[in-house]
Amino acid sequence: MGMAHVIDGNALAKELHASIEDELRELRASGVHPGLATVLVGDDYAAKAYERHLRSVAEGLEYRYVCEHLSDYVELADVLATVGKLNADPRVTGILLLRPFPSHLPEAQVNAALDPMKDVEAAHPLNAGLLALGQPRFIPSTPASCFHALDAYARSRGFDPSKFLEGRTLVVVGRSSSVGKPAQWLGLQRHATVVACHSRTRDLGAITRLADVLIVSVGVPALVTGDMVSEGVIALDVGINAVKDHSTGKILMVGDVDFDGVEAKAEAITPVPGGIGPITDVWLVGNVLAAAAMAARVEPRFGHFG
Ligand code: NAP
Repeated sequence: MGMAHVIDGNALAKELHASIEDELRELRASGVHPGLATVLVGDDYAAKAYERHLRSVAEGLEYRYVCEHLSDYVELADVLATVGKLNADPRVTGILLLRPFPSHLPEAQVNAALDPMKDVEAAHPLNAGLLALGQPRFIPSTPASCFHALDAYARSRGFDPSKFLEGRTLVVVGRSSSVGKPAQWLGLQRHATVVACHSRTRDLGAITRLADVLIVSVGVPALVTGDMVSEGVIALDVGINAVKDHSTGKILMVGDVDFDGVEAKAEAITPVPGGIGPITDVWLVGNVLAAAAMAARVEPRFGHFG
């Protein structure tokens, strides 16, 4: 066991949820009603589990909620028609396209069909562009959760979270459009020195050892081991991987970071489960609330770091 501070994502998610409830109460008084629509294509196990979970979070806040479940073999024209229907429905204020998409569907084309004002994950090129330029409309939920966790840790140590990353080295492993790239953009916005790693990176450990703050979003269990980090790193683990425990035969959820090995050297670390994951879905419903406010021409409080 190391001495690292283990960042409690469940507690942070609970606080964030309470702040959303407060804002929701005020918005409801002025007639604003958030509604979330998810689009699920096929029967991916993890996507279905996430959909069920989002439904319960959204319904817990008394949002309108609908899931459009399309078959694996759906044609692009039908997906675009579904997105068009949700775009036109004023009861839907936020739309989430659940991943993965079957390979015959061009993801970029579907993203571009979203109404940018309902695109709560900033998947539309306009919203991704605004984020890359440092003027985000919506901050996608998973990278937002990494920075939310980091901010909370910085604050707990007496730092100004908006300045904490300034001049520090942020290494992001993974360059997905939904997590890795937006995490890099957000790091640059905070004046970090950002290093982007991916599957072609040579000697990953040599790069990750440079990190003051490390964000890992890859999908490989325990990819980052203790020897690949320096003393005092702050490690934020996005990965959610199901692995079989060989001694018990049970399925366990593990991250992309080898928790025990990295914790022994880290200043702070997020666990899996109970780290970034629980913050993510709360951030998402917060973005749906922000979208509902914007649609009613009310300035939302939620959605930016503060
Ligand atoms: P993704 O779209 O599959 O992208 C994975 C990235 O990792 C790619 O950029 C890939 O590089 C890179 N990569 C693959 N193998 C690598 C290696 N050996 N060394 C370095 N980089 C490598 O993944 P994602 O959507 O970002 O998700 C990643 C993980 O996070 C998954 O486990 C997923 O379940 C989890 N996740 C969690 C949350 C949450 O709320 N906590 C949300 C979303 C995703 P290339 O670009 O070169 O292929």
